[in-house]
Amino acid sequence: MTLTEGLEHILRENEPLAPYTSLKLGGVAEYFAEPTTRAELMEVVKRFSNERLPMRVIGGGSNVLVRDEGVPGVVIHLAAPEFCNLSIDKNRLVVGGGVKLSHFVACCAREGFAGPESLVGIPGTVGGALHNNSGTGGLDIGSWTRRATVLTRNCEVLERNSEQLSFSYRSSSLNELAILEAEFLFEQEPADSLTRQMQRNWIVRRSRQPSIDMPAAFAFKDQGGELASELIERAGLKGAKVGKAEIYDGNASYIVVQPGATSQDVMRLIELIRNQVSDRLSVELPLGLQVW
Ligand SMILES: Cc1cc2nc3c(=O)[nH]c(=O)nc-3n(C[C@H](O)[C@H](O)[C@H](O)COP(=O)(O)OP(=O)(O)OC[C@H]3O[C@@H](n4cnc5c(N)ncnc54)[C@H](O)[C@@H]3O)c2cc1C
Repeated sequence: MTLTEGLEHILRENEPLAPYTSLKLGGVAEYFAEPTTRAELMEVVKRFSNERLPMRVIGGGSNVLVRDEGVPGVVIHLAAPEFCNLSIDKNRLVVGGGVKLSHFVACCAREGFAGPESLVGIPGTVGGALHNNSGTGGLDIGSWTRRATVLTRNCEVLERNSEQLSFSYRSSSLNELAILEAEFLFEQEPADSLTRQMQRNWIVRRSRQPSIDMPAAFAFKDQGGELASELIERAGLKGAKVGKAEIYDGNASYIVVQPGATSQDVMRLIELIRNQVSDRLSVELPLGLQVW
């Protein structure tokens, strides 16, 4: 049996990954799977695990840089309705890993669930946000997470309860192959004030980050209590460019790319920034972006 046999409707070869990422760059996935049910997902994982081939899950692709030469093995995209459920019970929310973070945030504000209004404007999915413990201004998604259902690389479905979960700055213990669903618990506040706060946060954020249609990456983590953008500016790198990749004028935390850019341009710009920050400020700037 070939890897794709019987799964041709959900498993393709040589799929370009650029359209699935915020940077709109990079080569193809050797295999690309879009399962529509948990059983199909498990069948894909079983086959690639048996052959010991690499497996990755992509969410919104907002924190991934795909190399120009592409990605071996399978990239799994959990965008089907099966992975995008959202259900509410009092002040608890159970959400599929494929749900867009914007949808999660808006739903929380509407239901009077306090906290996630601070995450408005962060692109991607709930699964990607949990994997990275995404957040802003000291609040991150892990603060409200109580349970997660994950699928391991050995094709086991496991429950992770709050004692087994740990979250720290842009990092979480959720590093199994796939986060299928998670449960969140919230304090309640009036929905109209949360909605107004979410709108205010969105206006501030929109003025500080590249517009939605601009291919961009939020490349670096803050370090030693200082914002990555401040470190980059202090190292004299405002406006730095390599090929068609450059530091975003409005906020040095972002890398933006012009038409014709390659992933190699972005990698060389990242290297330049990290080297100069290290040489000039003696600070090792941690990379937030994942290079595939
Ligand atoms: C303009 C812009 C602004 C940003 N602002 C912020 C910000 O303020 N704060 C912040 O923290 N981040 C920010 N980011 C980074 C990024 O949006 C977040 O890290 C986001 O949560 C990533 O989610 P994603 O679904 O796009 O993940 P992806 O980029 O698709 O994947 C990231 C990682 O998560 C894993 N992953 C994705 N889905 C799943 C899943 N279901 N199960 C298991 N693993 C999974 C992937 O395998 C990969 O390792 C920004 C990015 C951009 C482009």
